[in-house]
Amino acid sequence: MKITDVRAVYPNYRQPLGGWRPYLWQIVVRVETDAGITGYGYGGGGVASVEVVNRHLRELLLDERCDSPTDIERLWDKLYTASIPYGRGGIAVMALSGIDLALWDLLGRAERQPVYALLGGSSAPRIRAYASGNDPEWFAEQGFSAHKVSCGRPAHAGDYERAAAMADESRRYLGADALLMFDCYMAWDAAATLKMAHTLAPYDIYWFEDTLTPDDLDGLAQLRPQIKPIQLAGGEHDFTHHRFAAIAAAGALDIWQPDVTWCGGVTATRRIIAQAQAAGATVVLHRGGEPWGLHVIAATECEKLGELVLGNRHRAPEALWLDAPQTENGYLTPTDAPGFGLRLNKELVD
Ligand SMILES: [Mg+2]
Repeated sequence: MKITDVRAVYPNYRQPLGGWRPYLWQIVVRVETDAGITGYGYGGGGVASVEVVNRHLRELLLDERCDSPTDIERLWDKLYTASIPYGRGGIAVMALSGIDLALWDLLGRAERQPVYALLGGSSAPRIRAYASGNDPEWFAEQGFSAHKVSCGRPAHAGDYERAAAMADESRRYLGADALLMFDCYMAWDAAATLKMAHTLAPYDIYWFEDTLTPDDLDGLAQLRPQIKPIQLAGGEHDFTHHRFAAIAAAGALDIWQPDVTWCGGVTATRRIIAQAQAAGATVVLHRGGEPWGLHVIAATECEKLGELVLGNRHRAPEALWLDAPQTENGYLTPTDAPGFGLRLNKELVD
């Protein structure tokens, strides 16, 4: 197949998006071919990333062939190299991620194979889902057996007790055998992390996520052994195998959490997973319970654990993609439809 057009769009999200997201949330990338097959991808970086795709990366793809995983690897390298002057991470790689996922979807549709099969997976396993958000009663009602608490900066002594109360509430609804994690979105420093590890010791916490900023690899490496048996997790704000090489060299994290739609797509994620295996680190994909992550988890050595960011029962996420796998008793299975097996909700992109 020859690529005849590439277009990125920013959806008309109707739900309010928090923090940095209103103009910089997820994009949709369409890749069209002379075979009449269209691939759809999902990237990060919002309106800025749309400009990167439509004004630069698009022209590098026109008339290129895409007939095999090797072609996708070659195109990834071409786009990454061409965007080095303004890229190597952030919005440029979030844009590249959207293109990469569109190419994998395209190849899957052309070969009538789910992406996990293109990646060497032989069957669609059941993948345990974990719910991110602070409504454990609702998560328990839906059958989840794994939960990640969102926890802010502890400004007062009482905030540690409140964190313990959240852990206690989660254990009450989900049970003693549930996986329980804490994510502070870079709001803790080393002292707060150590105090949280002590405070939450009775609750058998699997990991602490995004404690220090991702720039402080030395700080993370020092912290890591001090909070055992709690694992130190991070990586959603890190991009490509080049950055994860630095994480490996520093020994910064036990659990690596690349985001398939941000870190450089399936192509970069596979390279990161290979590095993690060599480094003895575990990979638990950021938002891995979304369709793109499920295909990667199904076919690779990632931990079979997929995140769904659910928030709470009063604010269910907006469905940009239709036909995404839904949880059954707290487990997800990737679809075996061609590509990523999704339809775009056109109401949000026209
Ligand atoms: Mg996180």
